[in-house]
Amino acid sequence: MGMGFFNLIHFLILFHLFAATPIFSVSISTNFLDEAKKPEVFDWMVKIRRKIHEYPELLYEEFETSKVIRGELDKLGIPYRHPVAVTGVIGFIGTGNPPFVAIRADMDALPMQELVEWEHKSKVPGKVHACGHDAHVTMLLGAAKILKEHEKELQGTVVLVFQPAEEGGGGAKKILDAGALENVTAIFGLHVSPNDPIGEVASRSGPIMAGSGFFEAIISGKGGHAAIPQHSIDPILAASNVIVSLQHLVSREADPLDPQVVTVAKFQGGGAFNVIPDSVTIGGTFRAFSKDSFKKLKQRIEEVITGQAAVHRCNAVVNFQNEMKPFYPPTVNSDDLHEHFRKVAGNLLGFNKVNEMRPMMGAEDFSFYQEVIPGYFFFLGMENVSHERLNSLHSPYFKVNEDVLPYGAALHATLAASYLQKYQQDVPMVKGKYHEEL
Ligand SMILES: [Zn+2]
Ligand SMILES: [Zn+2]
Repeated sequence: MGMGFFNLIHFLILFHLFAATPIFSVSISTNFLDEAKKPEVFDWMVKIRRKIHEYPELLYEEFETSKVIRGELDKLGIPYRHPVAVTGVIGFIGTGNPPFVAIRADMDALPMQELVEWEHKSKVPGKVHACGHDAHVTMLLGAAKILKEHEKELQGTVVLVFQPAEEGGGGAKKILDAGALENVTAIFGLHVSPNDPIGEVASRSGPIMAGSGFFEAIISGKGGHAAIPQHSIDPILAASNVIVSLQHLVSREADPLDPQVVTVAKFQGGGAFNVIPDSVTIGGTFRAFSKDSFKKLKQRIEEVITGQAAVHRCNAVVNFQNEMKPFYPPTVNSDDLHEHFRKVAGNLLGFNKVNEMRPMMGAEDFSFYQEVIPGYFFFLGMENVSHERLNSLHSPYFKVNEDVLPYGAALHATLAASYLQKYQQDVPMVKGKYHEEL
């Protein structure tokens, strides 16, 4: 039987729909960076970022930041869930149907004093956005604005994750525990990088950042007169030997080809020249790339502290503070999403701007998402050396080059939109759970 006229029309329409897909993907990439750079979008983002910068809030206290986010989402007509994980906000753009792809920003600041003198310096003494999370929130709002304008073209649902408490609080874990990301099949996150050129990105497939934990130990002896040591049990000397012994865990017990860190960063004890104190408190962090190495390190830290303290007739109590500061798993990027990222970022920025990076011993609670959802984390350069050199993350002199904002917004938006386009064929079209809740 030959192809009738109507069948032919049908075929042409279908053919057109499929043929249009790759063209759409290219045009979407070009447009989003141009759109994010438009003065009305750029100036709007700069304003939001400065407002958040002036009122930094620490982990799980991001109430005003959360309000700013919700205010902007309201203005954009984007529905959201709140509160999630105390101050978190989860927004939705698109069809309300699968696939669901998440893009995430962290919201919290650091407990330190800003030393940059500028018009929009932190107005809260002892708190500052020195890790760029003010820029991260702004970029995600920027992406939201762009995606909302293209909502009809989205072939699924983008889930915006405004997450509290990245700096030690494990906010990502609380977001997951709240069930906010059920049905999400991929998640993307980024971090600004003060030491990479503006407009360039860096990441890798597989492990990119270490798993991280903290420990604190109270080493108790018996206080007394410093001139009569035989009547005391000296916790200062015990703690000193504990710290030296902890160095051997990495240098003598760990595989040299399996990177690990143990750092004692806190030592508190004594207050007088002539008094042996009752006790000393030490604390620090440990890092490893595999769960096994991490577990072994944790166990050995406890054994070495208590064992070495006992050599000096002291008692030691070790606390890993897992309730307050949850262990962060290693950050491990999905291979598939690495390919997706390289294509999307390469089309958007130029393939010579997409760099492979070495893994680093820093940690990110984005890793909690990656334990349950394929995820991808990358760094976004913001340094313009001809303009000024930027200080590192967590420096009191840390600055954001605001020219980075459109790049982050465009990358978020393009990664999400093109993910939906790429994966929509694989997912059965059923009504999305999130849409029903709203
Ligand atoms: Zn940080
Ligand atoms: Zn950070």
